[in-house]
Amino acid sequence: MMEKSNTRRQFFKLAFGALALAPVLKVADAFAKAAMPKSEAIKKKMINDKTAKRLKYVADAKEAKKGKAAGNKDYKKYTDGSVCSNCKFFKADKGEPEWGKCTMAANRYVYKDGWCKSYRANS
Ligand code: SF4
Repeated sequence: MMEKSNTRRQFFKLAFGALALAPVLKVADAFAKAAMPKSEAIKKKMINDKTAKRLKYVADAKEAKKGKAAGNKDYKKYTDGSVCSNCKFFKADKGEPEWGKCTMAANRYVYKDGWCKSYRANS
């Protein structure tokens, strides 16, 4: 009897644990989908790791903000509100305007909410 009760308790513990994680996983999944282009042509010409590393590019400018707040020198140039979509080097794609070619990234695609150390405000 005791064993059965423990098994039931373990089941509910796991079930509630999984339920508690569900919204977190949904958000992470939604972000991953939002940050991936639909177009195969864009996927093929996305910023590569080497360029991203050189520019200290992040697909979500909030990461740069957090990095700056934590004293990471890579993000010291970050200023509030700066994102790829309002950078002068961003040229939005006609089909998927949330993605755009970036001159500083060798005309590869970056995400509208991204940021890098070469950011220049679009005037
Ligand atoms: S130069 Fe501008 S558009 Fe290009 S990755 Fe950096 S912030 Fe984004």
